[in-house]
Amino acid sequence: GAALLEADRRVDSGCPYCGVGCQLTYHVKDGKIVKVTGRDGPANHGRLCVKGRYGFDYPAHRQRLTQPLIRKPGIAKDPQGELDPADPLAAFRPASWEEALDFAADGLKRIIAEHGKHALAGFGSAKGSNEEAYLFQKLVRTGFGTNNVDHCTRLCHASSVVALLEGVGSGAVSNPVADVQHAEVVVVIGSNPIVNHPVAATFIKNAVKKGTTQLILMDPRRTELARHAAYHLPFRPDSDVALLNALLHVIVTEGLVDEEFVRLRTENYEALKQNVLAYSPEAMAPICGIDARTLREVARLYARSRASMILWGMGVSQHVHGTDNVRCLIALAMVTGQIGRPGTGLHPLRGQNNVQGASDVGLIPMCFPDYLRVDDEAARAKFERLWGVPLDGQPGLTVVEIIDAACAGRIKGMYIEGENPAMSDPNSNHAREGLASLEHLIVQDLFMTETAYFADVILPASAYAEKTGTFTNTDRIVQIGRQAVTPPGEARQDLWIIQEIARRLGLDWNYQGPREVFEEMRSAMPSIAGISWERLEREGHVTYPCASETDPGQPVIFTERFPTPSGRARIVPADIIPADERPDADYPLVLITGRQLEHWHTGSMTRRASVLDAIEPAPTVSVHPLDLEGIGAEAGDVLTVESRRGRIALFARADDGIPRGSVFIPFCYYEAAANRLTNQALDPYAKIAELKYCAVRVRKGGTV
Ligand code: SF4
Repeated sequence: GAALLEADRRVDSGCPYCGVGCQLTYHVKDGKIVKVTGRDGPANHGRLCVKGRYGFDYPAHRQRLTQPLIRKPGIAKDPQGELDPADPLAAFRPASWEEALDFAADGLKRIIAEHGKHALAGFGSAKGSNEEAYLFQKLVRTGFGTNNVDHCTRLCHASSVVALLEGVGSGAVSNPVADVQHAEVVVVIGSNPIVNHPVAATFIKNAVKKGTTQLILMDPRRTELARHAAYHLPFRPDSDVALLNALLHVIVTEGLVDEEFVRLRTENYEALKQNVLAYSPEAMAPICGIDARTLREVARLYARSRASMILWGMGVSQHVHGTDNVRCLIALAMVTGQIGRPGTGLHPLRGQNNVQGASDVGLIPMCFPDYLRVDDEAARAKFERLWGVPLDGQPGLTVVEIIDAACAGRIKGMYIEGENPAMSDPNSNHAREGLASLEHLIVQDLFMTETAYFADVILPASAYAEKTGTFTNTDRIVQIGRQAVTPPGEARQDLWIIQEIARRLGLDWNYQGPREVFEEMRSAMPSIAGISWERLEREGHVTYPCASETDPGQPVIFTERFPTPSGRARIVPADIIPADERPDADYPLVLITGRQLEHWHTGSMTRRASVLDAIEPAPTVSVHPLDLEGIGAEAGDVLTVESRRGRIALFARADDGIPRGSVFIPFCYYEAAANRLTNQALDPYAKIAELKYCAVRVRKGGTV
């Protein structure tokens, strides 16, 4: 009770979960976190959601890995197998750090000698700090010698980043979430922020409540945010381009274009204009399921308002036409001049607490830090000078491509730090086959994850609250996460582990801590050149781009020009490309996957957070009540959901916000892994998988 909550120490830090980047204080007693309270950070103003406030006890969970493990000889990796809940470590034996690190590095060296450097790949983590992500990509590029390095951004906003880099020259947001209070119109599309960015959603709700902001929600599901919306457009899953081109058609044909902005600040408008003429609201209404009058009203509202802002999520990005969806959103902002001012702009709501930062520091296969392309000679020369080794100029493979290459025998060895592709990758039976076929797999994590099950060596790592580092939130705000407690047993900090592997690969690294790594990052990245560690300590947070120590940082960008070669934004038209796998007679329903409020991504943390797991303890599939009736089932019954790739059983939840003909499954439950069903078809530009759409069938019965 009260005595337990009387903390010995308080440590100011941040939330380990989502990209909103709430600041918080850990209350520590007897070496354990006993309570969390919100701080007055720029993104949360003291607020926290249920994950940030109550999801703090996973680091102390009894299943933490506390010593290095090496796979016992002769134990096969079975892609269809599951962890034995009674003895999840059965396939492994304990090892000393010295032995485990030597074993890990020797395996990498053997593969380079036998198969060449491109037979190796690394997955870093968007949950680690900027310093960890920077060192991890530097290790793969300079120690392995390949650009085969990626992380879960590929499964999240890769398409947004590709479209934004092409259109406006920068992959990050133009305005912070808090700018919704300056907007007259806020468009939220393909995002469920009340669940996935809860504190950000509170600012949207506050703005609406004040009466100065109108919300337009575009989502096939009627989520809780719809209650706050002036318009909810429940468009058909997969019809994003039809919907958005219809809005552009209205703007272009009804004289709603900001002619001056288009003339001075954009290029390629004529091509867009010609293209959208074929997409009248009347023609698109039967395709997207929204009547023409509503489409016209919404287009006028967005275009005419003093300031309109667009926020979007995975519902937009995780399609084979994800890049096209975002091109349409960019075009909307450009033709109406709704960008470059407070309360306007484009905001892809970033998922993980550091997915923005991890991408910025180069944890992606085609770019060095600050998005300099690896196939650009000047960029390569810059990093060869800085890092002192020759670098490869071929863009590397992406997440799904790496798994495909492992299945095909071209990737032989991997180092996976803090990612769980056995759960998070599309078509996870295929992903597990790829992991199982590796000759050498190093996994660095907190728990025996579904991915670690396939490892040859497991390195026990540190949780967010057990280390110090910088993190960059969805608003481009850099903040410090501070160590509050020590890792258990022999678990070590990730920065130390990465360096030990690097040294064994012949790299002369001797960083004394995150501060020193941050200094090197600053010298390599003009975007954060003005952000010093001292400044972060003093000011609590600094927004990039930040060119010098006197630059306050720029929350709103693109005010004068775009960071493109011409200084103008490029408008790119898009046409309708259907989903890779449409429903048919055998698989008549659409599967939409996503997250839920209490659980985080693959569940490895939140399912071990006692309060969160108590609230949502079991896998569910949400179905419209009439569709449930159609299969003779009720809420609470067990349903079996099957696609061409796999089958899972889980409990039915009735939800009349789910469109008829679709079902929704969160992907965090290992016992009913939604990604066993999903399709690995890729967007051709961004290589993001179509996690938001595939064909399934559902029947009553099965065993959870
Ligand atoms: Fe953490 Fe995101 Fe919740 Fe804030 S909104 S407390 S960052 S999970």
